[in-house]
Amino acid sequence: MARLDLHLHTTHSDGSLPPAEVLALAHKAGVTALAITDHDITTGIPEALEAGAGLGIEIIPGVEISSRFGESELHILGYFLDWQDPTLNARLAGLRDSRHRRNPQIVERLRALGCDLTYNEVRELAGTESVGRPHIARVLMEKDYVKSAKEAFDRFLAQGKTAYVPRELPEPADAMAWIRSAKGVPVLAHPLWAKQDGEGLFKLCEKLKAEGLGGMEVHYSTHNPKQTAELLDIARRLDLLVTGGSDFHGLTKPDIEVGVGRGGLTVPVKLLEPLKRAASV
Ligand SMILES: [Zn+2]
Ligand SMILES: [Zn+2]
Repeated sequence: MARLDLHLHTTHSDGSLPPAEVLALAHKAGVTALAITDHDITTGIPEALEAGAGLGIEIIPGVEISSRFGESELHILGYFLDWQDPTLNARLAGLRDSRHRRNPQIVERLRALGCDLTYNEVRELAGTESVGRPHIARVLMEKDYVKSAKEAFDRFLAQGKTAYVPRELPEPADAMAWIRSAKGVPVLAHPLWAKQDGEGLFKLCEKLKAEGLGGMEVHYSTHNPKQTAELLDIARRLDLLVTGGSDFHGLTKPDIEVGVGRGGLTVPVKLLEPLKRAASV
């Protein structure tokens, strides 16, 4: 069945497969258009464009930017960006620098907790400039300190756990303005991560819309039908575009597959045109 997948990670950030392999999986799953949305980086897009041309899959240039939300984070996806925009790329490089300041501190905490690893090992495994906690989790897995990335987060890396170090993050309004200034459409990723009840989420999205938000990721791997319906309702009330994606990472989230998430995800093809129109305004 033809479908979209507008949320995918590759080896250019914390995914475990290169863009061409992600596209091969997308092709098998019936995905006709997709967005590569690596964290704070756009370097995976050329390879995706090339592979997409070969497979007949439309590539939407994208990115995912983490922003501050109290003690937690809101992730903002950007679609149809001018991904070669020098200002955008300088801003993304600044975000990656803040990761490089934070990651060695996390590694130091892990070492103090008895885990023998170095930040050089993490960078080597990552093989990209967009290094994040999932890469640290994979080194912990390789060294048998944990059995899965989930265990690494649950024991050490998640907010409030023993090796957690907060990161300097932009405000959501800034992340959205950066995307807008690169001609992209800002979309709130996995809105349920904000841990708000229905009315709280409505108010949050209302505020974000006033600050530049264009859409909401309604269809997502972990959403059940009731949650999808509630988000769809908020998107309609606020006149936000509806998007969706799997948030595929490969190894780090082994239960999520390209295009279909945990099996029940279908992002309708008809959502692409309105998004495209919004980007060309
Ligand atoms: Zn995210
Ligand atoms: Zn993501």
